[in-house]
Amino acid sequence: MTATTESVATDDLTAEVTSWLEEHWNPDLTVEEWWDRLGRSGWAVPTWPVEWYGKGLSRAEGVRVMQTIGTFGALGAPGGLGTLLAGPTIIVHGTEAQKERYLLDIVTGQKAWCQLFSEPGAGSDLAGLNTRAERDGDEWVVNGQKVWTSGGHWSDLGMLLARTDPDVAKHQGITYFALDMHQPGVEIRPLRELTGRAMFNEVFLTDVRVPNDAAIGGLNNGWAVANTTLMFERSGLGAGGGGGSVAALPGTVGGDLARRAGDFLRLRDLTGGGGGGSATSVQNLTALARANGTIADAEIRQQLAQLYTLNEIARYTNLRQRALSRAGGEIPGLGNIAKLSMSRILRLSRDLSGRILGPYATLHAYDAADAERLAVATDGAAQPGVTESMLFAQAPQIYGGTDEIQHNILGERVLGLPKEPNADQGKPFRELPKNG
Ligand SMILES: Cc1cc2nc3c(=O)[nH]c(=O)nc-3n(C[C@H](O)[C@H](O)[C@H](O)COP(=O)(O)OP(=O)(O)OC[C@H]3O[C@@H](n4cnc5c(N)ncnc54)[C@H](O)[C@@H]3O)c2cc1C
Repeated sequence: MTATTESVATDDLTAEVTSWLEEHWNPDLTVEEWWDRLGRSGWAVPTWPVEWYGKGLSRAEGVRVMQTIGTFGALGAPGGLGTLLAGPTIIVHGTEAQKERYLLDIVTGQKAWCQLFSEPGAGSDLAGLNTRAERDGDEWVVNGQKVWTSGGHWSDLGMLLARTDPDVAKHQGITYFALDMHQPGVEIRPLRELTGRAMFNEVFLTDVRVPNDAAIGGLNNGWAVANTTLMFERSGLGAGGGGGSVAALPGTVGGDLARRAGDFLRLRDLTGGGGGGSATSVQNLTALARANGTIADAEIRQQLAQLYTLNEIARYTNLRQRALSRAGGEIPGLGNIAKLSMSRILRLSRDLSGRILGPYATLHAYDAADAERLAVATDGAAQPGVTESMLFAQAPQIYGGTDEIQHNILGERVLGLPKEPNADQGKPFRELPKNG
C-alpha cells in the first residue's frame, strides 16, 4: 500500500468515526448511557472481531479510532483490564456462553476486571502459585493470597489463576477462572505506591466460590490461557496502552457510571490527560528545557535526541509489523521487544526530566488541588505531572513480567538460546520446595 492510499484509508476511517460521534455523542449523557452506545456500536473496541462488539480493525487503526474520539472531544472507551486483558483472552479461549456472559459488560464498562495472578511467592515464577481451588459439586472453593492486584478495590470480576491439581507438574495443574469479587471471603487491602496513590492491593481469598462454568479455557489449561493474557498485556503496554485512557472508571464500584460523561473531559484537561506518558514526551520536555534555559546544556540536548530516536525506532518497528502482518508475517517476540522498548523510554524520560527540572522535580503533588498550589507557588517551575510520571517510571519495568524476564523469553523462545537450568521440570507441584 502506498503512503497516499494509506492516508486516504485513514481519512475514511476518521470520517466514519467522526460522523458516528456527531450523531451519538452528547456530554449530558451519563457515562453508563454513553458507554452503552459506544460499546454496542463497535467503536469502543474496534480491534475486536465484528461478531463480538468490535470492527475487526488492526491495532494501528484502533489507535486511530481512539485518537479520533479524543480529538472530537468525546469521552473515550472504558479502560482498565477488562478491555485490555480479560475480553481479548475470553475471545481466544472462552466458550460461546462465556463470551455472551462477559464481553458486553466489558465493552459497555458495566463490569471492571482485575488480574489475580501474582502472589507473595509467585511473580516471575508465576507457575509456582499456591492459591488452590478444590472441587465441590458444580463449584470450586478457593483459598490463597494474591498481591499487586491493580484496581482490585474497584473491580467486579477477577482473572484468577488457581491450582486445581497439585499432583502434576506446576505448569499443568493451573486453571484460569472468572471470579466474582463481590462475595464473602474476598478481602481487599490497598497498598500505597511511590506516587502516593493506592492503585494496587493485596487480595485474600478465604473459602471463596467460583462456578465450574467460569473456568476459561478448560480445567488445568490455565497456563496457556494466562500466557495469552500476558501476551496481550505486553503488547498493549508496549503500544503505549493509552488508547482507552479516560478519567472515568468502569464497573459498579467506582461510582462513575451514573455521572455526567461531559464532566470527565474537563477533569481530563485539568489533570493533563491521564495517559501518564504525555507529560514526559519529547515535545513537552523540550518545551520545558527551552523555557527554563537548560536546553543550553549539551548533555540534555543529547538525551532529548536519544529519547526522540528511541520513540522513532518504536514507531518504525510498529510500522514494520503492520507491513509484515498485511503480508501474513510477524516479528517474533514483538510484544516482549515493545515492552522492553517502553521501559527504556520511560527510564530515559525519568532521568532527563530530573535533569531538566533540577530540584523542582522533587516537588510532588498528591492531588489536583496540590498540583495547582505547587504550580502557583513555584511560578510554574514545579511540574507535578512530570514528577508523577518520573515516580511511576519504576513500575512498567516490573509489571507484565520484569525486563529480565522479557530478556529471558526473547533469549530462549525467539533466539533459541539454551534454557535456564530448571530443577522443577516434570516434578509434581506437591513435591516442590516452597517458600514459607
Ligand atoms: C505497578 C504494578 C502493578 C501490578 N499489577 C499487577 C496486577 O494487577 N496483577 C498481578 O497479578 N500482578 C501485578 N503486578 C505484579 C507483577 O506482575 C510482578 O511484580 C512481577 O511479575 C515480578 O514479580 P515479583 O514482584 O514477585 O518479583 P520477583 O519475581 O521476586 O523478581 C525479583 C527480581 O528478580 C528478577 N528475576 C526473577 N526471576 C528471574 C529469572 N529467572 N532470571 C532473571 N531475573 C529474574 C526479577 O527480574 C526482579 O528484578 C504489578 C506490579 C507492579 C509493579
